[in-house]
Amino acid sequence: MGSHFIADIVEADLASGKHAEIRTRFPPEPNGYLHLGHAKSICLNFGLAAAHGGTTNLRFDDTNPTTEEEAYVRAIERDVRWLGFEWNALYYASDYFEQLYEWAGRLIEKGKAYVCDLTAEQVRQYRGTLTEPGRESPHRGRSVEENLDLFHRMRAGEFPDGSRTLRAKIDMASGNLNLRDPVMYRILHAPHHRTGESWPIYPTYDWAHGQSDSIERITHSVCTLEFEDHRPLYEWFIAELGIFPSRQIEFARLNVTHTVLSKRKLLRLVGEKAVSGWDDPRMPTIAGLRRRGYPPAAIRDFCDRIGITKQESVVELGLLEHCVREELNRVALRRMAVLRPLRLVLVDWPEGHFEELAAVDNPEDPAAGTRPVRFGRELWIDRDDFLEDPPKKYFRLAPGREVRLRWGYVVRCVEVIKDAAGEVVEVRCTHDPATRGGGTPDGRRIQGTIHWVAAADAADAEVRLYAPLFPDTDPEAVPEGTDWIERLDPQSLVTLAGCKVEPALAAAAPGERVQFERVGYFVADERDHLPGRPVFNRIVTLRDTWAKVQQQAAGKG
Ligand code: ATP
Ligand code: MG
Repeated sequence: MGSHFIADIVEADLASGKHAEIRTRFPPEPNGYLHLGHAKSICLNFGLAAAHGGTTNLRFDDTNPTTEEEAYVRAIERDVRWLGFEWNALYYASDYFEQLYEWAGRLIEKGKAYVCDLTAEQVRQYRGTLTEPGRESPHRGRSVEENLDLFHRMRAGEFPDGSRTLRAKIDMASGNLNLRDPVMYRILHAPHHRTGESWPIYPTYDWAHGQSDSIERITHSVCTLEFEDHRPLYEWFIAELGIFPSRQIEFARLNVTHTVLSKRKLLRLVGEKAVSGWDDPRMPTIAGLRRRGYPPAAIRDFCDRIGITKQESVVELGLLEHCVREELNRVALRRMAVLRPLRLVLVDWPEGHFEELAAVDNPEDPAAGTRPVRFGRELWIDRDDFLEDPPKKYFRLAPGREVRLRWGYVVRCVEVIKDAAGEVVEVRCTHDPATRGGGTPDGRRIQGTIHWVAAADAADAEVRLYAPLFPDTDPEAVPEGTDWIERLDPQSLVTLAGCKVEPALAAAAPGERVQFERVGYFVADERDHLPGRPVFNRIVTLRDTWAKVQQQAAGKG
C-alpha cells in the first residue's frame, strides 16, 4: 500500500487518538459486475485498513430495487475474494431500512424533514440552478403531525408511485444544490431482491449512504470525486441525528485508455451482445480480466502504481499489461505451442524413433525444474518461422539455412514441398546430431531459435487472440451524431483453430496460465477448456511497448 493523502489522514487520526482503530467499507451497488475502477476502490479500502490493523466491510448499496439482482451480489462477492480480499462483515443497506425509517421520523419531529407532494419534475423545477436560487415547496410548512401522518401512510403503501417524497428541510437558497431540500424517500411499489414487498418507499443514496456508514462505525468513507458536493449533506444528516461521525473523503476515479469504465456502458455492451457476456475476456470487468488470465496480483500491483490523488487522469492500458507481464514472467511455466502449423520433416531421422529432451519450465525460476518433451522425425513449426525468400535480417528457417529447434537440434532446410496452388505445405530438413540440446561443439553461430511441437504428441487446440475492444485511446470521445459502441474493433477477437500444442498444455487445468515460448502469455479458458479439447486465451503478447516508451522517455529526459 503506497503512501497518499488518504493514508496520511488515517495515520494522523490514529496518531491523534481520534480513532483507536480504523474501519473502511467497499459499497457496491449490485446492479452490474465490478470493473477495474472498482478494483482501485477495493485495493484502497482494504489496503488502508490492512496497513493500519483495521477492518473493511463489504456493503451492498441496494436501494434501487428495479436495477438490482441477487446474481450481481454473488458475482461481486466472488470478484472481491478473487482479487485477494476478505471482508470483516457483509452488510446490505437494506439491513438498515427500519433504522433509516425511524431516523427519518426523528428528523420530522425536529422539524427538519417534510412530506412534499410535488412531482419529480416539479421538484427539479423548484430546485433552481447554480445562478438562480430555488423556490420553497408549497408543502414545506406542513405541521410535524401532518408530516408524521403522511410519512407513515407512505410507508403503509397508501399512495401511488412518485406521488410524494420525504425531503430534508435545509436551505432552498444554498449555493450547493444538494442542500436545497434533498429527497430522502421516494414511493416505489417494486419488489426488492432481499426485502421483497415489505417496503413501498426506498431511501435515496444520500439518505442511505452516510447513515449506513455511521451504523457500521466506518471511520473513513472513501468515494469518488463526483460526491464531493454531497459531503455537506452527508455531514448535515449525521450532525442532525447526532450519530457516529463517519468522514467522507473523495479521490479521483480510475479511467483507462481503450476501454469504458462505467457499469451503464458495460451493461450496454452485454445487453446489445457486442461481447459474449460480463466475463468476455475483452471486458474491463474483474470477471473478464480473470477469464482473460490477468493474475489478481498484477491487478493489485497496477492499483498500487497508479496511486491515489484528487486529479482526474487517464491511465495507459499498457501499464496494466506491463504489470501482467512482470507477474507472469516470474511465475508462468514455459510451454511450446504452434499457432499456425507448418509440417517439418527430418529426412535423416529414423521413422518411429523418438528422443526425450529436457525443456526448462521457467528460466526465471530454477525451482520450476524441467519437463520431458519428445523429439521425432515429424514436427510442427509456425508458418511465421519459415520464409522461402527471406529478407536479409530474417534469422529463422529458409531454404539452405540453419536454425536451432528449442531444446533440440540445429536443423538445415534442404527441400520445400508445395501444393498445387503453390503454397508451402512441408519443409524438409536434416539435423546435426552433434547439436543435441542446442549447443554447437564447433562453435559456429546459429542466429535463430524457433519453437516446435512433435507431430506424434501434438494436441489440437483452439486459441483466441484478443486485442483491446476499442482501437481509440478514448472511445467515448466520438464525433457528434455517432455512437461510441460503433467504435468497437471487430478484430478484437480472432479465433484460431487447429493450433498444435505440446501434451503438457492439453493437460492444463482451466485457469492455468503459461507462456507459449516466443508467442505470449496464455490461459486455459475457465469455461471452455476441456481435457481433449484445449482452448487458450491470449492474456498478453510478450512485447512490452509500455516499458519501451518509459525507457525512451527516461533516456530523453
Ligand atoms: P459506475 O460509475 O461504473 O456505474 P458506480 O460508482 O455506480 O460505478 P458503485 O457500485 O456505486 O458503482 O461503486 C462502488 C464503489 O466503487 C464506490 O465507492 C465508487 O466510488 C467506486 N468506484 C466506481 N467506479 C470507480 C472508478 N472508476 N474508479 C475508482 N473507484 C470507483
Ligand atoms: Mg453508483
